[in-house]
Amino acid sequence: MISIRIKNLSPYKTETTQAKVRLSSNELPLRLPEEAKQKIAQEVAKIPINKYPDPEAEELKDVLSEHFGVKRENLVLGNGSDELIYYLSIAIGEFDSGVFYPIPSFPMYQISARMLGRKRIEVPLNQDMDIDLEASLRAIKDSSPILAFLSYPNNPTGACFSREKIERIREEGLFTVIDEAYFHFSKKSFLKDALSREDTVVLRTLSKIGMAGLRVGILIAKEDVAYEINKMRLPFNITYPSQVIAKLMLTEFYPLIEECVSTVIKERDRLFQVLSQMEGVKPYPSDANFILFRSSVPADRLHVELLRRGVLVRNVSYMAGLEGCLRVSVGLPEENDAFLEALEDSL
Ligand code: PMP
Repeated sequence: MISIRIKNLSPYKTETTQAKVRLSSNELPLRLPEEAKQKIAQEVAKIPINKYPDPEAEELKDVLSEHFGVKRENLVLGNGSDELIYYLSIAIGEFDSGVFYPIPSFPMYQISARMLGRKRIEVPLNQDMDIDLEASLRAIKDSSPILAFLSYPNNPTGACFSREKIERIREEGLFTVIDEAYFHFSKKSFLKDALSREDTVVLRTLSKIGMAGLRVGILIAKEDVAYEINKMRLPFNITYPSQVIAKLMLTEFYPLIEECVSTVIKERDRLFQVLSQMEGVKPYPSDANFILFRSSVPADRLHVELLRRGVLVRNVSYMAGLEGCLRVSVGLPEENDAFLEALEDSL
């Protein structure tokens, strides 16, 4: 007997359409040089794949703890931060208490809550794509949620919510998850809070810095909080190849990642400027590696027109308050030029 909670979900789908320029999943356009690829291949060849990997991924955790300037005990690793969002949705409060998040935001918060049958307290963002504080406080008073998910910067709108509003919401007694998947592009963080408070954790991921294929998400929390969440981890959730490659990328090839991130930040600002000057297009400011824009052409049509010209972006017009909106990931200069050209032709 499959639960109605599960029957009501839709299968997870991403666009598989073939397109020359793919700017739909907020990946980093990292191109590894041949010698780096060879080094990775050599290390992967040494993996005894008949053996289970280290269940605690200790060596990777050591590299990550140095990277973040925290202790190994502050970390919990997930098969992507998706898995950690799911764990937190199970771990915090009882299932008859609610989960708060602004909308539109990252769909996993909603999916996890629905899977568990938890009440969802969804509050639309204001006109500036920031938290609507009054409406949020009202909804919190009415429904007493215990857990809040805040994407910081917010996907798909792009900007960080105001810090004061987040702090004010947390004062209502909510355990607050600050999802910093796009931290490398915003440089804004609640890491200090996560290390000093029982009611705040931070999520990071390797997905947005060139390693989406490895599926490594990182939860950073006070030691006692991390200890409890770590107990829930499925055994061996970080695969052997992921542990080995992530370690190598962060130790030997990090300068390549940093260079690519700074190219993307420059390109984001260029893309924003060009989009701002285009007639029929309104881009929203972004602290992330993507830009949300509204267009005068219906979004479904524009999405198809761009695809016809070989450019795939994400159609987010089905989300609350985002009628007419598409989201484009920032790519390499030539990819962004291809997008801009296709957009000009499609409007
Ligand atoms: N949080 C946010 C805000 C995201 O946009 C994404 C990926 N799109 C994730 C989490 C999931 O990242 P991961 O690949 O680590 O599961």
